[in-house]
Amino acid sequence: MSERVDFLIVGGGICGRLIQLELEKRGKSTLVVDDRKANQCSIVAAGLANPLVGKFFTIGWRSKEFFGGLYNHYQSLENRLDSSFFRPSAMKRVISTPGEQNIWLSKAHQEKYVGFCSFANEEIEGLNTSYGLLEVVQGGQLNAKVFLNACMEKLPTSDELFDYNKLNIDEGNYGHLNYDHIIFCEGYKLADNPWFNNFVHLIPTKGEILEIETALEPKGDIYLGGVFIQHVEGEVWRVGATYDQNNTSTNPTEMMREDLVKKLEKTLLLPYKIVAHYCGTRPASEDRKPIVGSHPKHRNMHIFNGMGSKAVSLAPLLAKELSDNILEGIPLEGEIDVKRFC
Ligand SMILES: Cc1cc2nc3c(=O)[nH]c(=O)nc-3n(C[C@H](O)[C@H](O)[C@H](O)COP(=O)(O)OP(=O)(O)OC[C@H]3O[C@@H](n4cnc5c(N)ncnc54)[C@H](O)[C@@H]3O)c2cc1C
Repeated sequence: MSERVDFLIVGGGICGRLIQLELEKRGKSTLVVDDRKANQCSIVAAGLANPLVGKFFTIGWRSKEFFGGLYNHYQSLENRLDSSFFRPSAMKRVISTPGEQNIWLSKAHQEKYVGFCSFANEEIEGLNTSYGLLEVVQGGQLNAKVFLNACMEKLPTSDELFDYNKLNIDEGNYGHLNYDHIIFCEGYKLADNPWFNNFVHLIPTKGEILEIETALEPKGDIYLGGVFIQHVEGEVWRVGATYDQNNTSTNPTEMMREDLVKKLEKTLLLPYKIVAHYCGTRPASEDRKPIVGSHPKHRNMHIFNGMGSKAVSLAPLLAKELSDNILEGIPLEGEIDVKRFC
């Protein structure tokens, strides 16, 4: 471990790594302390970036800003890390009723939706596509495992459990390491952080995913219905995900498996075999907005968390906004600023 860094970062999930890369780009020295053995939500993430969200597929909060430069941003990180982990993806939402079809036949032409999605009549063998499809434009996917492994290999990292008792915030040191700033990115484990856990409360939201084998045609990378069906390779597809609030258990459950199966069978008409089942815990916030910014009392202590189920699309731009805030004093928008909880 080096003796001094500009930024000490606790947590090496998607958030910790994206802020590390942003600061490195701005010439700052960094070290990520990450306990790889801990539950790492980022590793199990499907990695989807979809500008349309929720049951009614509305355009997500700040989607134009988040999606405008997303592909170029990840491409520059691929160059930096000499690895390949992000690609634009064809996402197709399967329309399931005549009513929904009517809505989308007119809605997809509205100005605000043009550039995000278009209606298509396309037959896909094995899926119930009789009411058409909505093709999502600007979607993408991050292979989080490949991204995090590349970061582990190429960026300054210490693979250890961060011990809060060893932190001297007055002196700015952690054991024998001196730092100018510390950024906490522990995901739902923020609950263990004594400087933030008395006023920031996350809602840990467990998510489960199945991997199946089926002879579905990969005419798109991702089909969206009651669940997403994401092509992995060959006949392997990933199916997800569930949302179970305030649950941090680390084992997948029979109940959620049945829930996923029931939803899958409404969209997929082909036989399939379940080959894997796993889970992780998302760091969701109470108001469903990210949690970014500086501690109200300790100016060199910061947080980058609360991305819920959207770290892949939100965190790149928010890492820039946090860096601008710390390094150049540019104010954060109130709706993401951690100070809203004070
Ligand atoms: C089933 C499922 C599917 C998902 N699909 C998507 C998707 O398609 N698209 C999307 O954008 N998001 C998705 N997500 C959500 C996404 O995974 C999260 O938004 C993201 O992983 C949050 O990243 P993070 O870095 O904040 O937290 P984490 O990934 O949890 O990383 C936190 C890191 O901090 C480390 N840590 C914590 N405490 C300590 C400590 N004391 N010492 C050392 N290290 C510590 C942990 O070990 C971990 O490595 C999904 C999540 C789940 C569970």
